[in-house]
Amino acid sequence: MKTKAIIQRALPHSSVYTFISASYVPLMDGIGCTCENCGKLIANLVTVENESGKRFVIGSDCADTLTSLKSDVKWVLTGQYAFNEGRQLRAKIQKNLKENKISGGHIYTCTEGNKFIVFDIIKGGTSMQRINYPDITLKFISSFLS
Ligand SMILES: [Zn+2]
Repeated sequence: MKTKAIIQRALPHSSVYTFISASYVPLMDGIGCTCENCGKLIANLVTVENESGKRFVIGSDCADTLTSLKSDVKWVLTGQYAFNEGRQLRAKIQKNLKENKISGGHIYTCTEGNKFIVFDIIKGGTSMQRINYPDITLKFISSFLS
């Protein structure tokens, strides 16, 4: 069985990295963030913290690698699922906008914490969809739409 070689870059593998947060910032001409680990231009910004509380902003690939070294992958996966769900919502919004079916949308949080995206339908009324991951905000979705 072949094992994938994990190359150590700027962040030492001897540290334990904990997932703090993830966000998506679309890459634009000349504007972008680089991974503090590998130096590549990144759109998925993952903030991790080492055992001494120092925070680093790295790409999702590096975050997967660094946080899985000490089996703390669970948190990274949460961010990744939210990212995927956000991407699906973006596709849905874009499709509906193209077909001229919706005029807008907002995110509604119930008192018990459940989150829904509510679309305003041009013909009247609304359409509601449950959002499973708390990281998804309108800002998160609109960053995809621009
Ligand atoms: Zn990287």
